[in-house]
Amino acid sequence: MRILLVEDEKVLADTVRRGLSNEGFVVDVTHDGVSGLSAATENAYDVILLDLMLPLKHGYDVLRELRQRRIWTPVLMLTAKDGEYDQTDAFDLGADDYLTKPFSFLVLVARIRALIRRGAPERPVVLALGTLTMDPVNRRVRRGQTLISLTPREYGLLHYLMRRHDQIVSKADILDNVWDSAFEGGDNVVEVYIGYLRRKIDAPFGVQTLATVRGMGYLLSADRIPESASAPQSRE
Ligand code: CA
Repeated sequence: MRILLVEDEKVLADTVRRGLSNEGFVVDVTHDGVSGLSAATENAYDVILLDLMLPLKHGYDVLRELRQRRIWTPVLMLTAKDGEYDQTDAFDLGADDYLTKPFSFLVLVARIRALIRRGAPERPVVLALGTLTMDPVNRRVRRGQTLISLTPREYGLLHYLMRRHDQIVSKADILDNVWDSAFEGGDNVVEVYIGYLRRKIDAPFGVQTLATVRGMGYLLSADRIPESASAPQSRE
Protein backbone atom coordinates (compact mmCIF):
# COMPACT_ATOMS: atom_id res chain seq x y z
CA MET A 1 0.00 0.00 0.00
CA ARG A 2 1.48 3.27 -1.11
CA ILE A 3 0.81 6.58 0.61
CA LEU A 4 1.69 10.12 -0.36
CA LEU A 5 2.23 12.51 2.53
CA VAL A 6 2.23 16.21 1.67
CA GLU A 7 3.33 18.04 4.81
CA ASP A 8 5.69 20.96 5.20
CA GLU A 9 6.39 20.48 8.90
CA LYS A 10 9.43 18.30 8.46
CA VAL A 11 9.55 16.83 11.97
CA LEU A 12 5.90 15.83 11.82
CA ALA A 13 6.30 14.51 8.28
CA ASP A 14 9.26 12.39 9.32
CA THR A 15 7.47 11.01 12.38
CA VAL A 16 4.41 10.06 10.35
CA ARG A 17 6.55 8.58 7.57
CA ARG A 18 8.50 6.37 9.99
CA GLY A 19 5.34 5.31 11.81
CA LEU A 20 3.55 4.36 8.61
CA SER A 21 6.61 2.54 7.27
CA ASN A 22 6.60 0.46 10.46
CA GLU A 23 2.98 -0.39 9.73
CA GLY A 24 4.05 -1.74 6.33
CA PHE A 25 3.09 1.20 4.13
CA VAL A 26 5.34 2.60 1.42
CA VAL A 27 5.42 6.35 2.02
CA ASP A 28 6.49 9.16 -0.30
CA VAL A 29 6.84 12.59 1.27
CA THR A 30 6.75 16.01 -0.33
CA HIS A 31 6.97 19.30 1.55
CA ASP A 32 4.99 21.73 -0.57
CA GLY A 33 1.75 21.89 -2.54
CA VAL A 34 3.27 22.04 -6.01
CA SER A 35 5.46 18.96 -5.65
CA GLY A 36 2.60 17.24 -3.82
CA LEU A 37 0.29 17.83 -6.75
CA SER A 38 2.80 16.55 -9.28
CA ALA A 39 3.61 13.46 -7.21
CA ALA A 40 -0.11 12.72 -6.85
CA THR A 41 -0.61 13.20 -10.58
CA GLU A 42 2.35 11.12 -11.71
CA ASN A 43 2.13 8.16 -9.34
CA ALA A 44 -0.66 5.89 -8.17
CA TYR A 45 -1.31 6.03 -4.44
CA ASP A 46 -3.82 4.26 -2.26
CA VAL A 47 -4.26 7.29 -0.01
CA ILE A 48 -3.01 10.87 0.01
CA LEU A 49 -2.44 12.63 3.35
CA LEU A 50 -2.68 16.30 2.58
CA ASP A 51 -1.79 19.14 4.90
CA LEU A 52 -3.89 22.28 4.50
CA MET A 53 -1.40 25.11 5.01
CA LEU A 54 1.37 24.36 2.55
CA PRO A 55 3.97 26.52 0.86
CA LEU A 56 3.62 27.20 -2.90
CA LYS A 57 0.10 25.79 -3.18
CA HIS A 58 -2.61 25.60 -0.54
CA GLY A 59 -3.92 22.13 0.35
CA TYR A 60 -7.40 23.02 -0.88
CA ASP A 61 -6.02 24.05 -4.26
CA VAL A 62 -4.04 20.81 -4.49
CA LEU A 63 -7.22 18.87 -3.74
CA ARG A 64 -9.34 20.86 -6.18
CA GLU A 65 -6.82 20.49 -8.99
CA LEU A 66 -6.48 16.77 -8.35
CA ARG A 67 -10.22 16.30 -8.67
CA GLN A 68 -10.27 18.50 -11.78
CA ARG A 69 -7.69 16.13 -13.24
CA ARG A 70 -10.09 13.31 -12.42
CA ILE A 71 -7.77 11.76 -9.88
CA TRP A 72 -9.99 10.18 -7.27
CA THR A 73 -7.37 8.83 -4.87
CA PRO A 74 -8.86 9.08 -1.37
CA VAL A 75 -7.59 12.22 0.36
CA LEU A 76 -7.34 12.64 4.10
CA MET A 77 -6.83 16.29 4.99
CA LEU A 78 -4.67 17.27 7.93
CA THR A 79 -5.26 20.65 9.45
CA ALA A 80 -4.54 22.81 12.45
CA LYS A 81 -7.24 23.37 15.01
CA ASP A 82 -7.65 27.14 14.66
CA GLY A 83 -9.46 26.32 11.41
CA GLU A 84 -10.09 29.21 9.10
CA TYR A 85 -11.63 26.41 7.08
CA ASP A 86 -13.89 23.75 8.41
CA GLN A 87 -14.76 20.18 7.73
CA THR A 88 -17.63 21.14 5.46
CA ASP A 89 -15.25 23.01 3.16
CA ALA A 90 -12.95 20.00 3.01
CA PHE A 91 -15.78 17.66 2.08
CA ASP A 92 -17.22 20.15 -0.43
CA LEU A 93 -13.91 20.16 -2.21
CA GLY A 94 -13.78 16.40 -2.38
CA ALA A 95 -11.78 15.32 0.65
CA ASP A 96 -12.69 11.86 1.91
CA ASP A 97 -11.76 12.36 5.51
CA TYR A 98 -10.36 14.93 7.83
CA LEU A 99 -8.05 14.95 10.86
CA THR A 100 -7.31 17.88 13.10
CA LYS A 101 -3.76 18.34 14.39
CA PRO A 102 -2.52 17.18 16.76
CA PHE A 103 -3.86 13.74 15.96
CA SER A 104 -3.23 10.32 17.42
CA PHE A 105 -1.11 8.10 15.24
CA LEU A 106 -3.40 5.15 15.95
CA VAL A 107 -6.40 7.16 14.76
CA LEU A 108 -4.50 8.14 11.63
CA VAL A 109 -3.70 4.52 10.79
CA ALA A 110 -7.30 3.46 11.44
CA ARG A 111 -8.59 6.21 9.12
CA ILE A 112 -6.10 5.27 6.41
CA ARG A 113 -7.14 1.64 6.56
CA ALA A 114 -10.82 2.64 6.39
CA LEU A 115 -10.14 4.76 3.29
CA ILE A 116 -8.26 1.94 1.61
CA ARG A 117 -11.13 -0.46 2.30
CA ARG A 118 -13.58 2.03 0.86
CA GLY A 119 -11.47 2.64 -2.26
CA ALA A 120 -11.86 5.50 -4.70
CA PRO A 121 -15.30 5.87 -6.22
CA GLU A 122 -15.60 7.43 -9.65
CA ARG A 123 -17.02 10.85 -9.03
CA PRO A 124 -18.03 13.75 -11.21
CA VAL A 125 -15.58 16.57 -11.15
CA VAL A 126 -16.25 19.88 -9.46
CA LEU A 127 -16.34 22.47 -12.22
CA ALA A 128 -14.33 25.60 -11.54
CA LEU A 129 -13.92 28.82 -13.45
CA GLY A 130 -11.99 31.52 -11.65
CA THR A 131 -13.63 31.84 -8.23
CA LEU A 132 -16.85 30.22 -9.45
CA THR A 133 -17.28 26.55 -8.59
CA MET A 134 -20.06 24.07 -9.23
CA ASP A 135 -20.31 20.66 -7.65
CA PRO A 136 -22.58 18.37 -9.68
CA VAL A 137 -22.85 15.93 -6.77
CA ASN A 138 -24.67 18.23 -4.38
CA ARG A 139 -25.48 20.93 -6.98
CA ARG A 140 -23.75 23.58 -4.91
CA VAL A 141 -22.57 26.70 -6.67
CA ARG A 142 -20.19 29.12 -5.00
CA ARG A 143 -18.39 32.31 -5.82
CA GLY A 144 -15.34 32.11 -3.57
CA GLN A 145 -16.71 30.84 -0.26
CA THR A 146 -20.20 32.26 -0.83
CA LEU A 147 -22.94 29.77 -1.60
CA ILE A 148 -25.25 30.90 -4.42
CA SER A 149 -28.83 29.69 -4.54
CA LEU A 150 -30.04 28.90 -8.07
CA THR A 151 -33.32 27.58 -9.41
CA PRO A 152 -33.07 24.30 -11.36
CA ARG A 153 -33.26 26.18 -14.70
CA GLU A 154 -30.61 28.69 -13.67
CA TYR A 155 -28.44 25.79 -12.53
CA GLY A 156 -28.92 24.04 -15.86
CA LEU A 157 -28.02 27.18 -17.77
CA LEU A 158 -24.92 27.83 -15.68
CA HIS A 159 -23.84 24.20 -16.00
CA TYR A 160 -24.09 24.44 -19.77
CA LEU A 161 -22.14 27.72 -19.85
CA MET A 162 -19.44 26.47 -17.48
CA ARG A 163 -18.82 23.41 -19.62
CA ARG A 164 -18.36 25.73 -22.58
CA HIS A 165 -16.50 28.53 -20.86
CA ASP A 166 -14.49 30.88 -23.04
CA GLN A 167 -16.58 29.90 -26.06
CA ILE A 168 -19.39 31.93 -27.53
CA VAL A 169 -22.64 30.04 -27.25
CA SER A 170 -25.67 31.15 -29.21
CA LYS A 171 -29.17 31.54 -27.87
CA ALA A 172 -30.24 28.66 -30.12
CA ASP A 173 -27.57 26.37 -28.61
CA ILE A 174 -28.70 27.32 -25.15
CA LEU A 175 -32.37 26.78 -25.95
CA ASP A 176 -31.63 23.36 -27.47
CA ASN A 177 -29.56 22.21 -24.53
CA VAL A 178 -31.08 23.84 -21.48
CA TRP A 179 -34.74 23.95 -22.42
CA ASP A 180 -36.36 20.79 -23.63
CA SER A 181 -37.27 20.43 -27.28
CA ALA A 182 -40.95 20.85 -26.54
CA PHE A 183 -40.36 24.41 -25.37
CA GLU A 184 -42.60 26.67 -27.44
CA GLY A 185 -41.58 30.11 -26.25
CA GLY A 186 -39.23 32.48 -28.05
CA ASP A 187 -35.55 32.80 -27.37
CA ASN A 188 -36.20 35.87 -25.21
CA VAL A 189 -36.38 33.45 -22.34
CA VAL A 190 -32.62 32.95 -22.68
CA GLU A 191 -31.99 36.67 -22.24
CA VAL A 192 -34.22 36.70 -19.20
CA TYR A 193 -32.36 33.82 -17.58
CA ILE A 194 -28.96 35.24 -18.47
CA GLY A 195 -30.09 38.34 -16.57
CA TYR A 196 -31.12 36.23 -13.56
CA LEU A 197 -27.76 34.51 -13.56
CA ARG A 198 -25.81 37.77 -13.75
CA ARG A 199 -27.70 39.05 -10.74
CA LYS A 200 -26.64 35.99 -8.80
CA ILE A 201 -23.15 35.03 -9.95
CA ASP A 202 -21.72 38.41 -10.99
CA ALA A 203 -23.41 41.54 -9.65
CA PRO A 204 -23.17 40.78 -5.92
CA PHE A 205 -19.44 40.11 -6.31
CA GLY A 206 -18.59 43.13 -8.45
CA VAL A 207 -17.46 41.00 -11.41
CA GLN A 208 -18.62 40.69 -15.00
CA THR A 209 -17.92 37.19 -16.22
CA LEU A 210 -21.07 36.56 -18.25
CA ALA A 211 -20.80 38.76 -21.33
CA THR A 212 -23.18 39.36 -24.21
CA VAL A 213 -21.45 39.11 -27.57
CA ARG A 214 -23.60 41.24 -29.84
CA GLY A 215 -25.42 39.27 -32.52
CA MET A 216 -23.63 36.06 -31.55
CA GLY A 217 -24.54 34.94 -28.08
CA TYR A 218 -22.96 34.75 -24.66
CA LEU A 219 -19.51 34.18 -23.26
CA LEU A 220 -18.70 33.01 -19.76
CA SER A 221 -15.14 33.57 -18.64
CA ALA A 222 -13.12 33.51 -15.44
CA ASP A 223 -12.80 36.44 -13.10
CA ARG A 224 -9.36 37.22 -11.77
CA ILE A 225 -8.90 35.68 -8.37
CA PRO A 226 -8.21 38.59 -6.03
CA GLU A 227 -5.17 38.32 -3.78
CA SER A 228 -7.30 38.45 -0.63
CA ALA A 229 -9.53 35.58 -1.74
CA SER A 230 -6.76 33.23 -2.72
CA ALA A 231 -5.57 30.77 -0.17
CA PRO A 232 -2.81 31.80 2.19
CA GLN A 233 0.54 30.39 1.23
CA SER A 234 2.41 30.96 4.43
CA ARG A 235 3.47 28.24 6.77
CA GLU A 236 1.31 27.53 9.77
CA1 CA B 1 1.57 23.05 7.15
